[in-house]
Amino acid sequence: MSLSTGFTWTHKNIRLVGYSMAGICTSIVFPDADVCFDVGQGLPFQVPVPNILLSHGHMDHASGLPYLIAQKAMMGQTPPNVYMPEGLLPPLKQIMRLWEQIDNHTYQYQFRSIKPGQEAPLKAPYFFKPFETFHRVDSQGYTVFERKKRLKPEYRDVDPRQLGNLRKQGEQLEEHFDEAVLSFTGDTRIEFLDSPQVRESRVLLMEVTYWDEKKSVENARLWGHIHLDELIPRLESLKCEKIVLIHASARYGSKYLHEILDARIPEHFKHRVELFPRPI
Ligand SMILES: [Zn+2]
Ligand SMILES: [Zn+2]
Repeated sequence: MSLSTGFTWTHKNIRLVGYSMAGICTSIVFPDADVCFDVGQGLPFQVPVPNILLSHGHMDHASGLPYLIAQKAMMGQTPPNVYMPEGLLPPLKQIMRLWEQIDNHTYQYQFRSIKPGQEAPLKAPYFFKPFETFHRVDSQGYTVFERKKRLKPEYRDVDPRQLGNLRKQGEQLEEHFDEAVLSFTGDTRIEFLDSPQVRESRVLLMEVTYWDEKKSVENARLWGHIHLDELIPRLESLKCEKIVLIHASARYGSKYLHEILDARIPEHFKHRVELFPRPI
């Protein structure tokens, strides 16, 4: 691994590539859905991805946007779709205009604001919906859904040969349903967990910035972040197969973080809570 390739994390059919450390860089790519959550300072592993979802405008999450747009243009890729909270749209447009002035070049990109309750397409069969997060600036998280098909309940016990006949007769046997595959928080206080789409996601990538008693829960909340002490009592409410922790402060080494997980996460949750891979 290097900063340019990112770290890889996999669970069943879900593969993610990224890098996340508080105050340094946070960016996670889900290649199967063609989506990149936050861009850090702009890194090569993000360049092939056409859809960029920004959680908020802090520099360790969003400052790489002009770099990424320029890299994509240089490599002849299609102009990216960049989605963001409403308040971020005017200043980011302004930043792009200034950078175009510096470069003496007009870049192609689609900036769109989106809010919780709305949805937008990704690579089929995936799409996404924002959810509310609680930080010190305008912010939101995102859930990627997969649109799937299944037999309607009335046909589930029917013999496959009979189903074949019904299908030939033009009977509509299947129905669509949406599965929440992955949620990504950006920076937030713990209250984002009140959103059902988050608690039902197969994988939850969530920020836990502070991990020990050197920072208090009150202090974490004051800065719009989460302390591990707040997550542990809420684990029982989560249906997620995996809860993957990102954005731990750079003050901790990963060995120390793994020791804390081992000591603090209840035994029956240990296989479900992980640290997103990061440098030593
Ligand atoms: Zn951050
Ligand atoms: Zn932030």
